[in-house]
Amino acid sequence: MRSLIYKIILNIKGENNMNTKIHPALVGSLTSTAPSEGIINFSPGPTSLPKDVEKKIAAIFNKGGLTSLALSHRSPEFLKILEHTIAITRKVMEIPDDYEVIFTHGGGHGQFAAVPLNLCHEKSDIATYIVNGTWSARGRDEAMKYCSVKTIDGRDMQTGNYTTFPKLNESDIDPESKYLYLCSNETVNGIELHRLPKLPESRKHVPLVVDASSDFTSKPIDWHGSGVGVLFACASKNIGHPGLTVAIVRRDLLGKDKASPLCPGVFNYTTNSEAGNLWNTPATFNIEVVGLLMDWLENKGGVAANECRSIDKANTLYDVIDNSKGFYGTPVNDKGLRSRMNIPFNIKGGDETLTNKFLVESWDLGMVGLRTLTPFGVGDYLRASLYNGVTLEETKKLADFMESFAKKNS
Ligand SMILES: *Cc1c(COP(=O)(O)O)cnc(C)c1O
Repeated sequence: MRSLIYKIILNIKGENNMNTKIHPALVGSLTSTAPSEGIINFSPGPTSLPKDVEKKIAAIFNKGGLTSLALSHRSPEFLKILEHTIAITRKVMEIPDDYEVIFTHGGGHGQFAAVPLNLCHEKSDIATYIVNGTWSARGRDEAMKYCSVKTIDGRDMQTGNYTTFPKLNESDIDPESKYLYLCSNETVNGIELHRLPKLPESRKHVPLVVDASSDFTSKPIDWHGSGVGVLFACASKNIGHPGLTVAIVRRDLLGKDKASPLCPGVFNYTTNSEAGNLWNTPATFNIEVVGLLMDWLENKGGVAANECRSIDKANTLYDVIDNSKGFYGTPVNDKGLRSRMNIPFNIKGGDETLTNKFLVESWDLGMVGLRTLTPFGVGDYLRASLYNGVTLEETKKLADFMESFAKKNS
């Protein structure tokens, strides 16, 4: 399938004119010909926000006057927006007082560098990375530039694939580690920790660093109980638009001389928290959007209710896959580790003709984003991403389509 998408892309670039009529669904187009109200965005990110939030965003522009895109970030109007977003984020995610909420630039990738640069003063400082998927591997590789990395390899011993999460043995975590890093939802591989792991007693002093880019707000976080030191999330999956990242940092990790002297100011947690998120110009509009999304979550019963919705949506698809007598496959067997956010599936073991047929037919019905290019290629699986912007009803539409497609093509 990987070679196919490259062939398709070459076609589009006009480097190969043998086969010029390629259906847009097969190159990841998100502009279905279905009526716009019927478009369902199953993309892994950036993605859509809940319809009610999107309406509120539209209303900002309809009311006239200056919007937060044009407001000085030090104006009283913007300060009010910033304060509200921080307060409602704290409330919804039950963030304790000894954590700072920091809005930064640079996305998830920015944090891959910011974490070691803030928590390791010397390049020789040790950090331990649990690598059980594409994103934790990328985070680890970036950190290797800035600190001394130890890896806990989370691949399945038998297959060599990323389909599990490793058991955390005391002996695998260097007690000198400045932090232990993990990704709580591997967006591409479809592996999720539904709760953060507890560290062995003798390693509880090591702060946990969590990449929650693709599962933030989908479940509660036991901040103190799990020993979270830093939790970060790019906004563009569950809470907002690209260009903003939230980093929630335990205060004892802040301090004048904690970070590497090479840590850029825009990434420095201490600098940004002391400046109240105004050290440089923050992503003003994006911060307002995160506030609106958090308001929506609060009105919908908070994070506990959101977790229930998330479980229902995911089960709707996994049930179809598991009951399809092998027509659909999904890589993670352990139900306790299956991602609720990103559901990978293949058709008859990856049959190319059927996969393309599925993509074209679902796209025609308005279901888009089921196969997109990632930094890791298109992968061997299709993927339905069920972030906050996707409803249970919309998920059921895909489930119904999958069932009828299986019936027709078995
Ligand atoms: C999307 C994603 C990232 C990368 O985020 P960018 O904002 O593109 O840098 C990092 N980690 C995870 C788990 C992701 O899903």
